Amino acid sequence: VPVRTEAAVASAEAHGAHNYHPLPVVVASAEGAWMTDVEGRRYLDLLAGYSALNFGHRNRRLIDAAKAQLDRVTLTSRAFHHDRFAAFCEQLAALCGMEMVLPMNTGAEAVETAVKTARKWGYRVKGVPEGEARVVVAAGNFHGRTTTIVSFSTDEEARADFGPYTPGFDVVPYGDAAALEAAVGEHTVAVLLEPIQGEAGVLVPPPGYLAAAREVTRERNVLFVADEIQSGLGRTGRTFACEHEGVVPDMYVLGKALGGGVVPVSAVVSSAEVLGVYRPGEHGSTFGGNPLACAVALEVLAMLRTGEFQGYAAELGAHLHRELGALAGGGAVRAVRGRGLWAGVDIDPALGTGREISERLMERGVLVKDTHGSTIRLAPPLVISKEDLDWGLGRLREVLAG
Ligand code: PLP
Repeated sequence: VPVRTEAAVASAEAHGAHNYHPLPVVVASAEGAWMTDVEGRRYLDLLAGYSALNFGHRNRRLIDAAKAQLDRVTLTSRAFHHDRFAAFCEQLAALCGMEMVLPMNTGAEAVETAVKTARKWGYRVKGVPEGEARVVVAAGNFHGRTTTIVSFSTDEEARADFGPYTPGFDVVPYGDAAALEAAVGEHTVAVLLEPIQGEAGVLVPPPGYLAAAREVTRERNVLFVADEIQSGLGRTGRTFACEHEGVVPDMYVLGKALGGGVVPVSAVVSSAEVLGVYRPGEHGSTFGGNPLACAVALEVLAMLRTGEFQGYAAELGAHLHRELGALAGGGAVRAVRGRGLWAGVDIDPALGTGREISERLMERGVLVKDTHGSTIRLAPPLVISKEDLDWGLGRLREVLAG
C-alpha cells in the first residue's frame, strides 16, 4: 500500500469509529464516473454512493445550482418560509404523482418519518386504538440505522446490542404475497417495502408481488409505503422501481440521488389525506427542506422530468444485464439479479468473498462494494459511458478468470 494511502487509512482507523470497513483507497477528487485517489490513481466508480451519485460526481448542472444558491441563502430553518421551498415541494409531488411532501435529510430520517406518518394516519384517520398500530416489513430489509429501524431489521449485525427495540413491527418473508396478506391485521397501518431490496443483494421480488401487496393494502385500508431511497430516481430505468409492476404506492420514501450527491436530501411524498395529518410542532428537522437542499433537488427534478436518465439507464442497463448474463453461463458467476443500471452478482465462493473480489477489482482500477457473502453489487452512475462500463466489465472478467 503506498505511503500516503497507508497513513490516511491508519489515521482513519485510529480516530474514526470502525462502523465501516472501507476499501483501502483514499479519494481526493472525482468527476462523472471516475475518482482519483491521493496517489493520483484513477478508478471507475461502479457503486455511485449506493445510488446517491446517480448523476455522477460533480455533475455540472448540480454544482452550478449549488454554487448559485451558496451566494444567496443556505439555511433559514423552517421557522420562516424561503423562496425555493414551495417549488421543491410542488415539483417533487408532481414527479411522484402525489400531493404533499415532507422533507428531511437522510434516508433513515425519511423512513422514520414514514413510520410516524403511517402511525398518526392510523390513529387519526383509520381509527386504530391508541398504541396498537402495526407495520408489516420484509425480512432482509434495509431501511437505515436508527434505533427504531434496526428494531425491525433481520440482520443480526445491524441489530445486536442496540435494544430495547421499538415494538409494533411484523416481519414477513420478502417476495411471498400470501405471507404478506396473512400478516395484515386489523391494526396494520402500513406495509413498508423496498420494491427491490438493495443491501440484501439487489433482490428483485417475483413478478406480481408488488401488485399483490398493492391489492391487499388497498382492500384492507393499509398504506403501501415504498422505500425507493436506493431504487428510485432513475436507477432501474424508470423514475420509480414500482413502475415496473404498474404499482403506485400510497407513499414514496426518497433520498440519496434526490440530493444529487451534493447535499443530503430526503423526503416522504404522499397524498393530502396522509401527510395532512400533521399539525405544527408534531414533526420536523432543522435542516430538512433548507434552501441549498431545495436548490440542488430542484435541479435533480428538472433532470428527471425529461426522462433522459431513466431512458439511458434502461438502455445501458439492458446491455449490462446481457453482458452479466453471458458471464453467468461460465460457472464463476452463480446468479445475476437486478434492473436497469443495478445488478447483484453472486460469485462462486471458491473464487473469494465479495470483499476479496472488490479488492482485486480495486487493484485493477474499478470500485465496487460487496453486500453479503460472495455477492457484489454494481450500480454505476447513470452518466457512465458505454465504453467505460465495458472497460469495467472487462476488469471483472479478468478477476473472475483468476
Ligand atoms: N432505505 C434504503 C432502501 C436504503 O438503501 C438506505 C441506504 O442504503 C436507507 C434507507 C438509509 O439511508 P441513509 O443511509 O441516508 O440513512
